[in-house]
Amino acid sequence: MERNVSSQQIPGSPGNPIPLPKEKKLLHSYYAGARLPSPMGGQLDVLGVREGEGGAGKVLLECNVSSLRFVLAIPKATRTEKAKVKEAMDAGDELTCPRHGEYQRLSKSGKNWVCALCGVSYGKSG
Ligand SMILES: [Zn+2]
Repeated sequence: MERNVSSQQIPGSPGNPIPLPKEKKLLHSYYAGARLPSPMGGQLDVLGVREGEGGAGKVLLECNVSSLRFVLAIPKATRTEKAKVKEAMDAGDELTCPRHGEYQRLSKSGKNWVCALCGVSYGKSG
């Protein structure tokens, strides 16, 4: 049991992914659909996207060389982005991700409109 606990705490283990640096460049590559470079060399594969706290998102990644786990924090929606989504909502238009572009539709998660690739909530319904 003790061994189990310590293995969960090793940075880069599935229970304890290493946060990637908060760099705009990294986020922009992610929004553009590019594969992210791993800090260990090689590349990062996306394992999943989660909704974070307060409308932010997080992306879980795995380095294809070291198998270490990383997590990329996606900043929550800005006022401008929310206004854009609200405008589309009021107009009855298709809701799309302001960051991923017009081909990435937002999907409903509870009352929130969330991008499946960002995990970010861009608006509320009803
Ligand atoms: Zn998105």
